[in-house]
Amino acid sequence: MKTVYLDHAATTFMPERVLEAMVAFERGGRANAHRGLYPLASRATEAYESARQTVASFVHAEAKDLVFTKSTTEGLNLVARGVAERLGPGDEVLVTIADHHASVLPWIVAAKERGFTVRTLGLDDAYRLRMEDVRHTLSPRTRVIAMPLVSNVLGTVFPVAEVSQLAHEVGAIVVVDGAQAVGHITVDVRELGCDALAFSAHKMYGMVEDASTLVWKSGPERFEGGTPNVTGAIGFAEAARLLMDEGIDARVRRECELTKYFLERLSADSGVEIIGPRTVDERLGIVSFVQDGIHAHDLAHVLGEQGICVRAGHHCVEPLARRYCGSGSVRVSFGRETTMEELEAFFMALEVARMTLSYV
Ligand code: PMP
Repeated sequence: MKTVYLDHAATTFMPERVLEAMVAFERGGRANAHRGLYPLASRATEAYESARQTVASFVHAEAKDLVFTKSTTEGLNLVARGVAERLGPGDEVLVTIADHHASVLPWIVAAKERGFTVRTLGLDDAYRLRMEDVRHTLSPRTRVIAMPLVSNVLGTVFPVAEVSQLAHEVGAIVVVDGAQAVGHITVDVRELGCDALAFSAHKMYGMVEDASTLVWKSGPERFEGGTPNVTGAIGFAEAARLLMDEGIDARVRRECELTKYFLERLSADSGVEIIGPRTVDERLGIVSFVQDGIHAHDLAHVLGEQGICVRAGHHCVEPLARRYCGSGSVRVSFGRETTMEELEAFFMALEVARMTLSYV
């Protein structure tokens, strides 16, 4: 049975070129970065710092502002822990209903300890963040806004640049979860105007561990205690180079074509409710849906038995699931190697799953 992988929002496969870059480093001899003075150690330090430079330039940041962490989750926790130390009763942190748990939970935990308040911004019926709501909720008490750049459930792009401008007017900082954005759209931290951005290598064809980076205004080494994962950083940088070589335009065009076709086919199916906008101009290649009368887990299971890998559940964004689809949705997400034939295979398998699960 052929495997059709449609779960790129969870993690991506590592291209040969990325694997080779990491293996070449390991084969050439491992050494620790920022420690030894012999040539092998200097080579490790150079490789690590050059990787920092490449990954930073991928999001138009400066290398001195980029910290390698284990994952987006760790990066967002690092920011929250550092910032929350300066917050207390009377202060407010705004999050959105579309924030991944990794973006919300660090603030909720810190709020319990420090006595500040976490408020949640909702979305309208068209799945958009209303700027009037943001304006209305912001006040001199607001110290932080945490938000995604791209929703891992809805596939929509959030107006980070506009929010950053409003936030800065009241002296608040903006912490952005870029896990689903980097590698899919052009991400330029100068244009976003955000204060911190976290994203994961393993969601953009890089290494699974040592995966996320954080753009933050201070020397990076003081946030990177212990032995760094040089191989991971090399894989991260090679993935960024690969995506830069391919060019974002061609990739966005392809993802748009796939998404448009997928949305049209899926909307034509009876009993399907798409969670998120139905038009491609408002979203990327992450499509969540609910099939009337079939639990998302059952559907994903029967699809899985046919080789179709999709995700089911609340996708670590429980408030959003509660608001739009109750027990959760099935999520299909495309990557750079996804083909139209794979989408056809998905729809055939969906038909079989419906019959198996007695949908009429
Ligand atoms: N934020 C979003 C929007 C995500 O989709 C994910 C991965 N599911 C994360 C954060 C967490 O990423 P990581 O596992 O790399 O920490």
